[in-house]
Amino acid sequence: MRINHLWGITALARATLGSDLQQPLGGNLPPGTVHPSEFDTIIASSPLLAFHRSIVEIPSVSGDEKNVGEFVLDFLSSHNFTVEKQIVVPESDDNKERFNIYAYVGENRYPDVLLTSHIDTVPPFIPYSLHSPASRSRGRSSFNRADLIIAGRGTVDAKASVATIVFAAIEILHENPDASIGLLFDVGEEKFGVGIKHFSDSDLNPTPPKFHTVIFGEPTELSLVAGHKGSLGLKVIAKGKAAHSGYPWLGESAISAILPVLTRLDNLENVLPVDGGLLRSDKLGKSTLNIGQIYGGVAGNVVPAFAEASVSVRLAAGTPDDTRKILQRAVDEVTGSDGTVVLDFGGLKAGGAPPQYFDVDVDGFDVITVNYGTDAASLHIHDQGIQKVRRYLYGPGTIHVAHGDNEAITVGELEEAARGYKRLISAAL
Ligand SMILES: [Zn+2]
Repeated sequence: MRINHLWGITALARATLGSDLQQPLGGNLPPGTVHPSEFDTIIASSPLLAFHRSIVEIPSVSGDEKNVGEFVLDFLSSHNFTVEKQIVVPESDDNKERFNIYAYVGENRYPDVLLTSHIDTVPPFIPYSLHSPASRSRGRSSFNRADLIIAGRGTVDAKASVATIVFAAIEILHENPDASIGLLFDVGEEKFGVGIKHFSDSDLNPTPPKFHTVIFGEPTELSLVAGHKGSLGLKVIAKGKAAHSGYPWLGESAISAILPVLTRLDNLENVLPVDGGLLRSDKLGKSTLNIGQIYGGVAGNVVPAFAEASVSVRLAAGTPDDTRKILQRAVDEVTGSDGTVVLDFGGLKAGGAPPQYFDVDVDGFDVITVNYGTDAASLHIHDQGIQKVRRYLYGPGTIHVAHGDNEAITVGELEEAARGYKRLISAAL
């Protein structure tokens, strides 16, 4: 039903576009430029842009993906995909249904090429809106259609990838109905990657793999990504003994204990690896460490018995275990291994992710590296060294606005991404 509604809008918009074009637009506009009154028409007259608008307008902060999931599922089944709901454990006690969407053609449940992105967003929800580009503020009343700005939560991360993957797939199948492709749109990427982990552990990710190519959709500014850093989270915890601040020798300050440790960790990215610093690589540069949160003590006049800091490391080389050892050694050096400060890696021996590397062997794309994590680290490909599965990371929009209140993308970027995904799929097939 939603689909009919969507196509209804499109048809209506086409009619509106026709009549608008008969109106004088004012001034001598160069060809290809549009007047601000046509904002809505531009979106509604393009099935891709209209679909992108529909999925952005449905809020889907991690844990609350059900409604957008239903919409995407209906859309794909109305376009002749076989669609499966892959139920994922709910985020909270409210038992809201959560599911990955897995789509393929006919009975081809194990296609050669898998395209994937995520349907959840970070909070808060920011409504969809359309804006003329910056060029207008320089006194121009018209602009190129491709420069129209689409703003709102998820317009980039990752509903831009979801929409353009869907339309690239539809067009590929239009040209070649037997194309062996599948789509996976998962939940919870922004929060622990629960959706992709669920998929990874399921029968849809068999050993050995049936797919030979996986294309991950995330904002890469239309470039192919050669690699991204890994990640490791930890807590630095100091324990002391409370006392009156006038008699500090009667207590042990946890904050005095944690400060030199944090200072050492804070500088560890600038220390050469041979001297105990964080690892580096030619491709990804330095590993970086962020002390993002710190608290401790109870009052200014009490010797603090407790202090804690939350730390996130972005790994440019090595495994999470390598970095755990480097951090532990740094703490031991500062404290003399006296046990006043400990590192807590969440009890997860396997926590964290190593850097990820991708294929970049399709012509016509710029190649970059990025510093954010993706689902790629959590999709375990059981290739057993027999046949290497190719992995690509590509998508429209820039990460620089992805989690900000200024998240936005242009019409031109979305349309170029649909063409880009088509080229990647064609090369893979
Ligand atoms: Zn994302």
